[in-house]
Amino acid sequence: MNVKNSKMSTNSVWAGERDYLAFGATQVPTVFSVGYSYNDLDHWLDVALGKENGHIYGRMTNPTVQAFEGKVKELENAEDCISFSTGMAAISNTLNTFLRPGDRVVTIKDTYGGTNKIFLEFLPQLNIDVALCDTTDHEMLEKEVGKGCNVLYLETPTNPTLKVVDLNRMIKKAKEVGALVVVDNTFATPINQNPLALGADLVIHSATKFLGGHADALGGIVCGDKSLVEKVFHYREINGACLDPMSAYLFIRGMKTLDLRIKKQNENAMAVANFLESHPKVTDVFYPGLESNEGHEIAKKQMTGYGGMLSFSVDGGIDAVKKFMPALKFAHKAANLGAVETTVGPPRTTSHVENTPEERKAMGIPEGLVRYSAGIEDAEDLIADLSQALNKLEDK
Ligand SMILES: *Cc1c(COP(=O)(O)O)cnc(C)c1O
Repeated sequence: MNVKNSKMSTNSVWAGERDYLAFGATQVPTVFSVGYSYNDLDHWLDVALGKENGHIYGRMTNPTVQAFEGKVKELENAEDCISFSTGMAAISNTLNTFLRPGDRVVTIKDTYGGTNKIFLEFLPQLNIDVALCDTTDHEMLEKEVGKGCNVLYLETPTNPTLKVVDLNRMIKKAKEVGALVVVDNTFATPINQNPLALGADLVIHSATKFLGGHADALGGIVCGDKSLVEKVFHYREINGACLDPMSAYLFIRGMKTLDLRIKKQNENAMAVANFLESHPKVTDVFYPGLESNEGHEIAKKQMTGYGGMLSFSVDGGIDAVKKFMPALKFAHKAANLGAVETTVGPPRTTSHVENTPEERKAMGIPEGLVRYSAGIEDAEDLIADLSQALNKLEDK
């Protein structure tokens, strides 16, 4: 079905599904089958060689998984899309597909904790040179890209301090040196930001977060031009980090409400950020939707909404956080984000648990930072909840 000209809310519901409906069902079936049977051996060979559409073995393709990939493909307006068992699998498989010993990658200090570990630990082991730049220092980024690199890897807004990278500016520079631009779009989602439309080559998602939206399945996504996605697919089909059909089904179901959820989460995060910014016990609020935020002007240019994620520091550091956080009633205290339920956690036990305190300090992540993923609850209830929890902290 061609849904290219439809709006995001319509695409969230319909995209990718129609070709996979069977038996007159209105929902995509979850196909639990490792192998696919052929009586016609010539047909089998043609499918195996990719000359005809079909399925051979579950590590390569699965109908439910393909329907999910088709849905994300339409929402990101990409030529092609493949999924992975986790977001980290999508990231590591993509980097491994395009980087060789002796290559050079330019990236930012504020990538997701696991991604940062790939840059700090695993790529150097393969003799790949990694230039780690200050996330908002665009001049330094341009300089490093200008020296020549194979891949420019970006994430915006970043986890957990919501820094914003100017995609237009960095993509332009990368094109000058022929670098492949990869953008982790997990925090923004296709509803708020479309890096491919700005010229990025590949977009990555941890589907575990907002795409799924219900904190019940792990998965990853890579979207882009067919010629690039095919290369990543080839790496994945051999190395094996495929998505399972049950998770694909959960993602398809979750994504039907993607547009609804994200709009509500945008609103809730904005309301919460405004409340926190004016609260005497809150020392810092990081949210690109706030006019006071360093990245606001760039965010305004490249995003259509500011997302459901924010972070803040409370007066008194980690000791105060230990008191404040358990007092929240409408928030899971968990290492997750992007779900319909509000979720909070300190980066030192969530996104950046893989990093040492020194590494977190170098990334500018205060030990007492609280990461807040706004759910779809009522904003007034979330604010009242934060207010009563902050009141538990003593006046100085
Ligand atoms: C969670 C996350 C990842 C990793 O995804 P998993 O599904 O947990 O492997 C990557 N990037 C960002 C921005 C994330 O929030």
